[in-house]
Amino acid sequence: MARYTGAVCKLCRREGQKLFLKGERCYTGKCALDRRSYAPGQHGQARMKKASEYGKQLRTKQVAKRYYGVLESQFYHYFELAEKMPGAAGENLLTLLESRLDNVVYRMGLASSRAEARQLVGHKHFSVNGRTVNIPSFLVKPGMTIALREGSRSLDKMKAIIEANGSRPVPAWLDMDKANSCAKVVALAKREDIDLPIEETLIVELYSK
Ligand code: SF4
Repeated sequence: MARYTGAVCKLCRREGQKLFLKGERCYTGKCALDRRSYAPGQHGQARMKKASEYGKQLRTKQVAKRYYGVLESQFYHYFELAEKMPGAAGENLLTLLESRLDNVVYRMGLASSRAEARQLVGHKHFSVNGRTVNIPSFLVKPGMTIALREGSRSLDKMKAIIEANGSRPVPAWLDMDKANSCAKVVALAKREDIDLPIEETLIVELYSK
């Protein structure tokens, strides 16, 4: 299960925008981007040159990858799948990324960040249609039910996570049952359901070169 293991706040500073990779900390004055709003590294404070078209496409792709915690090869694999699906490849790409089990757990408010969701899924705290699934990249489909496993509901850690994140709005494509910490996938996420400031057409342009 390959993943980025460096300092995540550097990623936000590199992109010049909050990627919300650290859960609650991102909403407090401790956010590294609020305190140092320049790129990391020796030349981070040097005046930025105007980005070229390629530069904009590249940064957009990097932002999307980092939001979802996906490495390059896997991200490109999603793009290849998205191209084969009917409809716009960029929108399909975001739909696929939203369908990842770790993202769904995060969207359900059962994790403070996608990275935490990934870890919780890996530790077998969630089931899909009653069967334990520990693969964060598992793609959910309409009709599936994702649930916090019975034995995990009484854990202090899970209770604290639910308390901290329970008020976060759950997107309409998930029919959330907060009392039982489970949700049914009503439909796959559409572009208008995804609240990320990503211009997905730039990613398509980048990969189509
Ligand atoms: Fe990004 Fe969150 Fe770190 Fe702020 S605290 S820089 S939003 S990961």
